[in-house]
Amino acid sequence: MDSVTLAWHLQSLDWEQYIISFDYGQRHAKELEFAAECAYDLGADHDVIDLRELSQFLNSSSLTDPNIDVPDGHYAEETMKITVVPNRNMIMLSIAVGIAVAGQYQRVFVGVHAGDHFIYPDCREAFYNALNEAVQLGTDGFSAWDDDVFAVATPFVGITKADIVMKGAALGVPYEATWSCYKGKEIHCGRCGTCVERKEAFRLAEVADPTVYEDEDFEVAAYRG
Ligand SMILES: [Zn+2]
Repeated sequence: MDSVTLAWHLQSLDWEQYIISFDYGQRHAKELEFAAECAYDLGADHDVIDLRELSQFLNSSSLTDPNIDVPDGHYAEETMKITVVPNRNMIMLSIAVGIAVAGQYQRVFVGVHAGDHFIYPDCREAFYNALNEAVQLGTDGFSAWDDDVFAVATPFVGITKADIVMKGAALGVPYEATWSCYKGKEIHCGRCGTCVERKEAFRLAEVADPTVYEDEDFEVAAYRG
């Protein structure tokens, strides 16, 4: 949802895009097909970077280890830590930055957003500020970027997933052609952290949710305490 909305948002701002996805052995690798469909709809080039070899070394997460179940519930719960893939965004963004420098692209965009993601430290603004400093130091003189410009841009970092849905609805994003569920089965499970968040975002945004869930009614209440 976030990445597809970002792609539509950038399209509306006339950015010419090259979309990359990562196959890191995630059990919901079907999200890659939806990414390809999005790129096709927008007339953008799309490639999948194959990091499956790496997943065996990152096997403490339920997203990459078939022996660990994906928990049901809300992201904000302690149990969700098992879905964290260690340093995932840093790994992917390092690669994306290398590709961007090599191809003389002007920016790397990533669809991270604000919310209850304190279990995912690499979704926070402070991380991106530090990352950009490192990128600037590591690519100085090699990139097509202006010195005063953030190479890795996070236009959604200050807004919530519900805000993203509102923005996407206004842009006409086909949310039925997006994938969230970490379990990666035939249809969205409706119970895992990302399904719960997806439902919540549509509800808060007051936008009709076109997603078909295995468990439509599952909701997690009162987690904020
Ligand atoms: Zn799910």
